[in-house]
Amino acid sequence: MKLQLRFPPHLHEAPNTAEVILETGARINIDRAYVDAVRGELIIDVPDDKAEQVVSLFKQKGVEVHKLLKLISWNEDRCIHCGACISVCPVGVFKFDHEWQIKLDEGKCIRCNVCINACPMGALSSVDSNS
Ligand code: SF4
Ligand code: SF4
Repeated sequence: MKLQLRFPPHLHEAPNTAEVILETGARINIDRAYVDAVRGELIIDVPDDKAEQVVSLFKQKGVEVHKLLKLISWNEDRCIHCGACISVCPVGVFKFDHEWQIKLDEGKCIRCNVCINACPMGALSSVDSNS
């Protein structure tokens, strides 16, 4: 399961993610990280069997946690199967099937949003996370 973590400024210096990994034993993969002077945000991939434990521990530490159940929305009616999204997606969410129709593997998405601007038909949009 992918989680979006938002760290308030007072938690920037603390090794929260390392502590959660050590305390839960979860093999957490960091898909995306953004940190500046006022906020820190991570998107992490957590094994499903550890997800609730990881969510609970981050929340105890004061981190805002959202479960990202679906990261990208595809409007198939608008899609002209041009393949532009295949070229730009860094993790291979899109591919052609044997009839040259676009197919999505949404579970791979890391919410970089690059494809949204690349799509000439406005067929792609980001999906709000669920807490
Ligand atoms: S870029 Fe847009 S129109 Fe082109 S294949 Fe991808 S979703 Fe469809
Ligand atoms: S948001 Fe990024 S990772 Fe997700 S489908 Fe679009 S290009 Fe790929």
